[in-house]
Amino acid sequence: MPTARRGLAGMLVRRGGERMLVDCGEGTQRQLLRSTVGLIELPEIFLTHYHADHYLGLPGMLKTFALRGRDVPLVVHGPPGLTDLFAGLQRIFGKLTYPIELVELRDGDVLDRGEYRIVVFRVSHGVAANGYAFVEVPRPGRFDVDAARALGVPEGPLFGRLQAGKAIALAGGVEVRPGQVLGAPRSGRKVVLAGDTAPAATVLEVAGEADVLVHEATFAEEESERAEETAHSTATGAARLARAAKVKMLALTHLSNRYFGPEILREARGIFPETVVPRDFDIIDVRFQERGSPRLVKAGARTTREEAEPHGEHGAGGGGGGPRRGGGDPDDPGVGGDPVGASPGGRAASGGAG
Ligand SMILES: [Zn+2]
Ligand SMILES: [Zn+2]
Repeated sequence: MPTARRGLAGMLVRRGGERMLVDCGEGTQRQLLRSTVGLIELPEIFLTHYHADHYLGLPGMLKTFALRGRDVPLVVHGPPGLTDLFAGLQRIFGKLTYPIELVELRDGDVLDRGEYRIVVFRVSHGVAANGYAFVEVPRPGRFDVDAARALGVPEGPLFGRLQAGKAIALAGGVEVRPGQVLGAPRSGRKVVLAGDTAPAATVLEVAGEADVLVHEATFAEEESERAEETAHSTATGAARLARAAKVKMLALTHLSNRYFGPEILREARGIFPETVVPRDFDIIDVRFQERGSPRLVKAGARTTREEAEPHGEHGAGGGGGGPRRGGGDPDDPGVGGDPVGASPGGRAASGGAG
Protein backbone atom coordinates (compact mmCIF):
# COMPACT_ATOMS: atom_id res chain seq x y z
CA MET A 1 0.00 0.00 0.00
CA PRO A 2 1.17 3.55 -0.55
CA THR A 3 1.82 5.82 2.42
CA ALA A 4 1.73 9.60 2.50
CA ARG A 5 5.43 9.59 1.82
CA ARG A 6 5.93 6.53 -0.30
CA GLY A 7 4.59 5.67 -3.69
CA LEU A 8 4.18 2.16 -5.01
CA ALA A 9 6.71 0.16 -6.97
CA GLY A 10 8.47 2.04 -9.74
CA MET A 11 12.15 2.44 -10.54
CA LEU A 12 13.83 4.17 -13.41
CA VAL A 13 17.10 2.83 -14.76
CA ARG A 14 19.12 5.46 -16.59
CA ARG A 15 22.18 4.67 -18.60
CA GLY A 16 23.55 7.42 -20.78
CA GLY A 17 20.53 8.62 -22.75
CA GLU A 18 18.50 5.48 -22.09
CA ARG A 19 15.53 5.33 -19.75
CA MET A 20 13.89 2.10 -18.65
CA LEU A 21 11.03 1.98 -16.19
CA VAL A 22 10.82 -1.12 -14.03
CA ASP A 23 7.33 -1.62 -12.58
CA CYS A 24 4.63 0.99 -12.69
CA GLY A 25 2.58 1.06 -9.51
CA GLU A 26 -0.38 3.38 -9.12
CA GLY A 27 0.79 6.99 -9.10
CA THR A 28 4.01 6.42 -11.04
CA GLN A 29 3.21 8.92 -13.77
CA ARG A 30 2.64 11.65 -11.23
CA GLN A 31 5.86 10.81 -9.41
CA LEU A 32 7.69 11.09 -12.73
CA LEU A 33 6.05 14.46 -13.35
CA ARG A 34 7.18 15.62 -9.94
CA SER A 35 10.73 14.46 -10.57
CA THR A 36 13.57 15.95 -12.58
CA VAL A 37 12.96 13.20 -15.13
CA GLY A 38 9.47 14.31 -16.10
CA LEU A 39 6.87 12.16 -17.81
CA ILE A 40 9.03 11.40 -20.80
CA GLU A 41 8.00 9.20 -23.70
CA LEU A 42 9.50 6.09 -22.20
CA PRO A 43 10.40 3.64 -24.94
CA GLU A 44 10.17 0.58 -22.71
CA ILE A 45 8.77 -0.68 -19.48
CA PHE A 46 9.63 -3.86 -17.57
CA LEU A 47 7.12 -5.45 -15.22
CA THR A 48 8.38 -7.87 -12.60
CA HIS A 49 5.00 -9.53 -11.97
CA TYR A 50 1.29 -8.88 -12.01
CA HIS A 51 0.36 -7.99 -8.49
CA ALA A 52 -1.65 -4.79 -8.55
CA ASP A 53 0.93 -2.70 -6.70
CA HIS A 54 3.30 -3.16 -9.64
CA TYR A 55 1.18 -2.37 -12.68
CA LEU A 56 -1.89 -0.31 -11.77
CA GLY A 57 -0.08 2.84 -12.83
CA LEU A 58 0.15 1.61 -16.40
CA PRO A 59 -3.35 2.29 -17.75
CA GLY A 60 -3.29 5.89 -16.60
CA MET A 61 0.18 6.51 -17.95
CA LEU A 62 -0.58 4.88 -21.30
CA LYS A 63 -3.70 7.03 -21.53
CA THR A 64 -1.75 10.21 -20.80
CA PHE A 65 0.71 9.37 -23.55
CA ALA A 66 -2.23 8.96 -25.93
CA LEU A 67 -3.84 12.25 -24.88
CA ARG A 68 -0.54 13.92 -25.73
CA GLY A 69 -0.65 12.31 -29.16
CA ARG A 70 2.39 10.13 -28.70
CA ASP A 71 3.36 8.19 -31.79
CA VAL A 72 6.61 6.57 -30.64
CA PRO A 73 6.14 2.83 -30.07
CA LEU A 74 6.23 1.44 -26.54
CA VAL A 75 7.58 -1.97 -25.62
CA VAL A 76 6.29 -3.57 -22.44
CA HIS A 77 8.19 -6.57 -21.07
CA GLY A 78 6.97 -8.91 -18.38
CA PRO A 79 6.73 -12.53 -17.31
CA PRO A 80 4.26 -14.88 -19.03
CA GLY A 81 0.72 -13.58 -18.63
CA LEU A 82 1.44 -10.14 -20.08
CA THR A 83 -0.87 -10.62 -23.06
CA ASP A 84 -3.74 -11.65 -20.79
CA LEU A 85 -3.10 -8.70 -18.51
CA PHE A 86 -3.28 -6.28 -21.41
CA ALA A 87 -6.46 -7.87 -22.72
CA GLY A 88 -8.02 -6.70 -19.45
CA LEU A 89 -6.29 -3.32 -19.24
CA GLN A 90 -7.24 -2.46 -22.80
CA ARG A 91 -10.83 -1.89 -21.66
CA ILE A 92 -9.55 0.84 -19.38
CA PHE A 93 -7.16 2.73 -21.59
CA GLY A 94 -8.99 2.17 -24.88
CA LYS A 95 -7.45 3.06 -28.19
CA LEU A 96 -3.96 4.48 -28.18
CA THR A 97 -2.22 6.76 -30.66
CA TYR A 98 0.95 4.65 -30.68
CA PRO A 99 1.79 0.98 -31.11
CA ILE A 100 2.45 -1.21 -28.08
CA GLU A 101 4.56 -4.31 -28.36
CA LEU A 102 4.19 -6.88 -25.61
CA VAL A 103 7.19 -9.12 -24.93
CA GLU A 104 6.88 -12.00 -22.50
CA LEU A 105 10.23 -12.84 -20.94
CA ARG A 106 11.18 -16.03 -19.15
CA ASP A 107 13.92 -17.22 -16.86
CA GLY A 108 17.21 -17.26 -18.76
CA ASP A 109 16.16 -14.87 -21.52
CA VAL A 110 18.81 -12.31 -22.36
CA LEU A 111 18.29 -9.03 -24.18
CA ASP A 112 21.52 -8.07 -25.86
CA ARG A 113 21.95 -4.32 -26.00
CA GLY A 114 25.51 -4.19 -27.26
CA GLU A 115 27.28 -2.52 -24.37
CA TYR A 116 25.14 -4.34 -21.84
CA ARG A 117 22.74 -7.20 -21.45
CA ILE A 118 19.49 -7.52 -19.59
CA VAL A 119 19.37 -10.94 -17.99
CA VAL A 120 15.98 -12.26 -16.95
CA PHE A 121 15.81 -14.55 -13.95
CA ARG A 122 13.04 -16.25 -12.03
CA VAL A 123 12.40 -15.21 -8.45
CA SER A 124 10.43 -16.84 -5.68
CA HIS A 125 7.14 -15.03 -5.19
CA GLY A 126 4.48 -17.68 -5.66
CA VAL A 127 3.44 -16.32 -9.06
CA ALA A 128 5.25 -15.89 -12.38
CA ALA A 129 7.77 -13.22 -11.44
CA ASN A 130 10.95 -11.98 -13.10
CA GLY A 131 13.98 -10.22 -11.78
CA TYR A 132 16.11 -8.19 -14.18
CA ALA A 133 19.89 -7.87 -14.10
CA PHE A 134 21.52 -5.08 -16.09
CA VAL A 135 25.01 -6.30 -16.85
CA GLU A 136 27.55 -4.28 -18.80
CA VAL A 137 30.17 -6.03 -20.88
CA PRO A 138 33.76 -5.30 -19.80
CA ARG A 139 35.22 -2.14 -21.25
CA PRO A 140 38.56 -2.16 -23.07
CA GLY A 141 41.58 -1.25 -20.97
CA ARG A 142 42.92 2.27 -20.84
CA PHE A 143 44.90 3.34 -23.89
CA ASP A 144 48.45 4.36 -23.01
CA VAL A 145 49.21 7.21 -25.39
CA ASP A 146 52.81 7.58 -24.22
CA ALA A 147 53.52 3.89 -24.75
CA ALA A 148 52.04 4.09 -28.25
CA ARG A 149 54.18 7.13 -29.10
CA ALA A 150 57.29 5.45 -27.70
CA LEU A 151 56.65 2.50 -30.00
CA GLY A 152 56.54 4.92 -32.92
CA VAL A 153 52.80 4.75 -33.61
CA PRO A 154 51.71 7.97 -35.31
CA GLU A 155 48.66 9.67 -33.87
CA GLY A 156 45.53 9.13 -35.98
CA PRO A 157 43.64 6.14 -37.31
CA LEU A 158 46.23 3.64 -36.05
CA PHE A 159 45.49 4.77 -32.48
CA GLY A 160 41.88 3.92 -33.09
CA ARG A 161 42.67 0.47 -34.43
CA LEU A 162 44.77 -0.34 -31.39
CA GLN A 163 42.05 0.99 -29.09
CA ALA A 164 39.61 -1.31 -30.85
CA GLY A 165 41.87 -4.23 -29.94
CA LYS A 166 43.43 -4.76 -33.35
CA ALA A 167 47.14 -5.25 -34.11
CA ILE A 168 48.73 -2.81 -36.55
CA ALA A 169 51.83 -2.78 -38.73
CA LEU A 170 54.05 0.29 -38.80
CA ALA A 171 55.75 1.61 -41.92
CA GLY A 172 58.94 -0.34 -41.20
CA GLY A 173 56.97 -3.59 -40.94
CA VAL A 174 57.08 -3.67 -37.14
CA GLU A 175 53.92 -5.03 -35.58
CA VAL A 176 52.33 -3.39 -32.54
CA ARG A 177 49.84 -5.49 -30.61
CA PRO A 178 46.99 -3.99 -28.56
CA GLY A 179 48.39 -5.61 -25.41
CA GLN A 180 51.43 -3.32 -25.67
CA VAL A 181 49.34 -0.15 -25.38
CA LEU A 182 46.13 -1.19 -23.63
CA GLY A 183 45.67 -1.84 -19.92
CA ALA A 184 43.66 -4.75 -18.59
CA PRO A 185 39.96 -4.76 -19.51
CA ARG A 186 37.88 -2.83 -16.97
CA SER A 187 34.82 -4.45 -15.52
CA GLY A 188 31.39 -3.11 -16.40
CA ARG A 189 28.66 -2.38 -13.93
CA LYS A 190 26.00 -4.77 -12.73
CA VAL A 191 22.69 -3.72 -11.26
CA VAL A 192 20.22 -6.37 -10.16
CA LEU A 193 16.55 -5.63 -9.58
CA ALA A 194 14.96 -8.60 -7.88
CA GLY A 195 11.38 -7.37 -7.57
CA ASP A 196 9.11 -9.09 -5.03
CA THR A 197 10.62 -12.29 -3.75
CA ALA A 198 11.45 -14.44 -0.79
CA PRO A 199 15.21 -14.90 -0.45
CA ALA A 200 16.01 -17.01 -3.49
CA ALA A 201 18.98 -19.00 -4.78
CA THR A 202 18.36 -17.60 -8.26
CA VAL A 203 18.82 -14.06 -6.95
CA LEU A 204 21.93 -15.03 -5.04
CA GLU A 205 23.43 -16.49 -8.17
CA VAL A 206 22.74 -13.59 -10.50
CA ALA A 207 23.63 -10.95 -7.89
CA GLY A 208 27.17 -12.22 -7.32
CA GLU A 209 29.45 -9.20 -6.90
CA ALA A 210 26.84 -6.85 -8.29
CA ASP A 211 27.39 -3.13 -7.82
CA VAL A 212 23.85 -2.72 -6.59
CA LEU A 213 21.21 -5.24 -5.58
CA VAL A 214 17.77 -3.74 -5.24
CA HIS A 215 15.86 -6.18 -3.07
CA GLU A 216 12.59 -6.04 -1.27
CA ALA A 217 12.31 -6.02 2.51
CA THR A 218 8.58 -6.03 3.03
CA PHE A 219 8.93 -7.01 6.68
CA ALA A 220 11.27 -6.90 9.65
CA GLU A 221 12.44 -10.18 11.10
CA GLU A 222 9.74 -10.08 13.81
CA GLU A 223 7.31 -10.89 11.01
CA SER A 224 9.37 -13.60 9.38
CA GLU A 225 6.45 -16.03 9.43
CA ARG A 226 4.32 -13.63 7.52
CA ALA A 227 7.13 -13.04 5.08
CA GLU A 228 7.34 -16.75 4.46
CA GLU A 229 3.59 -17.15 4.00
CA THR A 230 3.43 -14.33 1.47
CA ALA A 231 6.70 -15.11 -0.37
CA HIS A 232 8.28 -11.85 0.66
CA SER A 233 11.56 -11.10 2.45
CA THR A 234 12.55 -9.61 5.75
CA ALA A 235 15.37 -7.09 6.09
CA THR A 236 17.44 -9.85 7.65
CA GLY A 237 16.78 -12.26 4.79
CA ALA A 238 17.71 -9.67 2.18
CA ALA A 239 20.84 -8.63 4.07
CA ARG A 240 22.04 -12.21 4.43
CA LEU A 241 21.59 -12.72 0.73
CA ALA A 242 23.47 -9.52 -0.10
CA ARG A 243 26.32 -10.57 2.17
CA ALA A 244 26.52 -14.00 0.56
CA ALA A 245 26.44 -12.47 -2.93
CA LYS A 246 29.17 -9.97 -1.98
CA VAL A 247 27.36 -7.05 -3.58
CA LYS A 248 28.71 -3.54 -3.15
CA MET A 249 25.40 -2.01 -2.14
CA LEU A 250 22.04 -3.37 -1.05
CA ALA A 251 19.06 -1.10 -1.61
CA LEU A 252 15.92 -2.17 0.21
CA THR A 253 12.50 -1.32 -1.18
CA HIS A 254 8.86 -2.41 -0.95
CA LEU A 255 8.55 -1.84 2.80
CA SER A 256 5.21 -2.67 4.32
CA ASN A 257 3.32 0.49 5.23
CA ARG A 258 3.87 -0.23 8.93
CA TYR A 259 7.57 0.52 8.55
CA PHE A 260 9.05 3.92 8.19
CA GLY A 261 12.52 2.91 7.08
CA PRO A 262 15.10 3.28 9.86
CA GLU A 263 14.03 0.08 11.65
CA ILE A 264 14.44 -1.88 8.43
CA LEU A 265 17.78 -0.21 7.79
CA ARG A 266 19.10 -0.93 11.29
CA GLU A 267 18.13 -4.56 11.08
CA ALA A 268 19.78 -5.04 7.68
CA ARG A 269 22.91 -3.10 8.56
CA GLY A 270 23.54 -5.36 11.52
CA ILE A 271 24.23 -8.04 8.93
CA PHE A 272 25.25 -6.12 5.85
CA PRO A 273 26.54 -2.59 6.54
CA GLU A 274 26.44 -1.39 2.94
CA THR A 275 22.65 -1.16 2.99
CA VAL A 276 20.46 1.80 2.10
CA VAL A 277 16.71 2.31 2.17
CA PRO A 278 16.00 4.79 -0.60
CA ARG A 279 12.97 7.02 -0.52
CA ASP A 280 10.92 8.32 -3.40
CA PHE A 281 13.03 10.59 -5.64
CA ASP A 282 16.35 9.30 -4.35
CA ILE A 283 18.94 8.26 -6.90
CA ILE A 284 21.58 5.60 -6.68
CA ASP A 285 24.58 6.69 -8.65
CA VAL A 286 26.32 3.58 -9.93
CA ARG A 287 29.83 4.60 -10.83
CA PHE A 288 32.46 2.71 -12.74
CA GLN A 289 34.59 0.76 -10.32
CA GLU A 290 37.65 2.98 -10.76
CA ARG A 291 35.55 6.03 -9.87
CA GLY A 292 34.22 4.77 -6.57
CA SER A 293 31.45 2.76 -4.97
CA PRO A 294 27.77 3.26 -5.69
CA ARG A 295 26.25 6.03 -3.63
CA LEU A 296 22.83 7.13 -2.56
CA VAL A 297 21.96 10.65 -3.66
CA LYS A 298 19.12 11.73 -1.44
CA ALA A 299 16.30 13.51 -3.23
CA GLY A 300 18.54 13.52 -6.29
CA ALA A 301 15.57 13.43 -8.63
CA ARG A 302 13.32 15.76 -6.70
CA THR A 303 12.47 18.99 -8.39
CA THR A 304 12.02 22.25 -6.51
CA ARG A 305 9.46 23.37 -9.06
CA GLU A 306 6.47 22.33 -7.01
CA GLU A 307 7.73 24.17 -3.97
CA ALA A 308 7.67 27.32 -6.05
CA GLU A 309 4.04 26.84 -7.00
CA PRO A 310 1.72 28.91 -4.82
CA HIS A 311 -0.83 26.13 -4.58
CA GLY A 312 1.59 23.32 -4.97
CA GLU A 313 2.27 20.35 -2.77
CA HIS A 314 1.60 20.84 0.87
CA GLY A 315 5.12 20.30 1.99
CA ALA A 316 5.88 19.18 5.49
CA GLY A 317 2.89 18.27 7.53
CA GLY A 318 0.26 19.02 4.91
CA GLY A 319 -2.53 16.48 4.83
CA GLY A 320 -1.08 14.53 7.69
CA GLY A 321 1.77 13.38 5.55
CA GLY A 322 4.32 12.87 8.26
CA PRO A 323 5.64 9.56 9.41
CA ARG A 324 3.49 7.93 12.01
CA ARG A 325 6.31 6.90 14.26
CA GLY A 326 9.12 9.14 15.24
CA GLY A 327 10.90 11.33 12.82
CA GLY A 328 13.03 8.78 11.14
CA ASP A 329 16.72 9.05 11.28
CA PRO A 330 17.61 12.21 9.41
CA ASP A 331 21.21 11.86 10.43
CA ASP A 332 21.52 8.39 9.14
CA PRO A 333 23.13 8.58 5.74
CA GLY A 334 21.62 5.27 4.76
CA VAL A 335 18.02 6.37 4.90
CA GLY A 336 17.29 8.44 1.92
CA GLY A 337 15.22 11.24 2.44
CA ASP A 338 14.82 14.57 3.93
CA PRO A 339 14.58 16.68 0.82
CA VAL A 340 15.11 19.91 2.70
CA GLY A 341 18.39 21.43 1.70
CA ALA A 342 19.17 18.78 -0.84
CA SER A 343 20.09 20.28 -4.14
CA PRO A 344 17.90 19.05 -6.93
CA GLY A 345 18.44 18.36 -10.46
CA GLY A 346 20.30 16.00 -12.61
CA ARG A 347 23.53 16.10 -10.76
CA ALA A 348 23.87 12.41 -10.53
CA ALA A 349 22.13 10.48 -13.24
CA SER A 350 23.47 6.98 -13.18
CA GLY A 351 26.97 7.56 -14.28
CA GLY A 352 28.13 8.00 -17.81
CA ALA A 353 27.49 5.41 -20.42
CA GLY A 354 31.19 5.24 -20.85
ZN1 LIG B 1 4.02 -9.12 -5.37
ZN1 LIG C 1 4.57 -5.85 -4.46
